[in-house]
Amino acid sequence: YVKERGKNGYKFYTEEMNRNSLQEKLLEANLHKALETGQLELYYQPKIECKENKIYGVEALVRWRKPEEGLIAPGVFIPVAEKTGLIIPIGNWVLKTACQQVQKWKSVGVTDLCISVNVSAIQIQSDDFVRTVSAIIKEAKIEPQLIELEITESSIMENSIENIMKLNELKDIGVRISLDDFGKGYSSLNYLKMLPIDTLKVDKSFIQNIEYDPREKVITEAIIQMSKALGLTVLAEGIENETQFHLLKELNCDAMQGFYFSRPLPIEEIDLKLFPRECY
Ligand code: C2E
Ligand code: MG
Ligand code: MG
Ligand code: MG
Repeated sequence: YVKERGKNGYKFYTEEMNRNSLQEKLLEANLHKALETGQLELYYQPKIECKENKIYGVEALVRWRKPEEGLIAPGVFIPVAEKTGLIIPIGNWVLKTACQQVQKWKSVGVTDLCISVNVSAIQIQSDDFVRTVSAIIKEAKIEPQLIELEITESSIMENSIENIMKLNELKDIGVRISLDDFGKGYSSLNYLKMLPIDTLKVDKSFIQNIEYDPREKVITEAIIQMSKALGLTVLAEGIENETQFHLLKELNCDAMQGFYFSRPLPIEEIDLKLFPRECY
């Protein structure tokens, strides 16, 4: 059938394919080098608990400081890293760096700030996921409770039983688990009862129009109530203004995160916000 479409159609198709894979290969090689030469950085975004309006932790978000090009967002390179398997060493670096940061805070007497890191499906699926995560945390000599792994529903859809067992093993050593981007894409409520999660993060798409769309408010309220009834902590992502902040407080949300409080920042700037612990 392909041949029947004529030489040109076929040729176009293969050239397109080659170009894409070439670009990807290039990005992969550069990304590999980036990891080895220290071009990756963690930015941190505060998480605020609503009762006392206090920062209780931060989310670590990876950035690539590419020479001549500046900061590259994870949305650009994480998908390639996932496709090529580079997400495994990158993910390990992210976790290690986050653990070292918890250790640094500990050394100056701060022992109640947690860091969450995003974890891709490929990482969970790798055979030594549990062993690697435990080893990294152990090596940093920190409380496992101060590390939270952010997973998404799509990351446990495949091999779900096996992956859930792995998450349970990590929970057993004290690591926290949160379900990221809840409500984005094909959320299945079924996972909520199967997953060993501590926190549910309501996707920012619900928050975006919450001031104007009463339906978004009703849905968000229901998610918050359901989470609480299930004994979970519930955090709203993507809080950008005061109206949203007050609305989510009214809805009894436990925690919030978003540009209204702070954009993700390099560690020096986060430390300035944390010491003395800034209140909102
Ligand atoms: P995420 O885990 O849901 O992280 C939240 C994203 O929302 C971040 O984008 C953050 O900068 C952005 N954000 C925070 N507050 C607001 C707000 O008020 N409004 C809006 N519009 N956006 C807000 P970022 O840093 O570009 O990261 C994008 C995604 O890349 C993350 O989404 C996460 O899925 C992935 N990612 C980031 N770091 C890592 C990593 O180390 N490993 C893996 N596997 N994925 C990562
Ligand atoms: Mg996240
Ligand atoms: Mg995520
Ligand atoms: Mg999210």
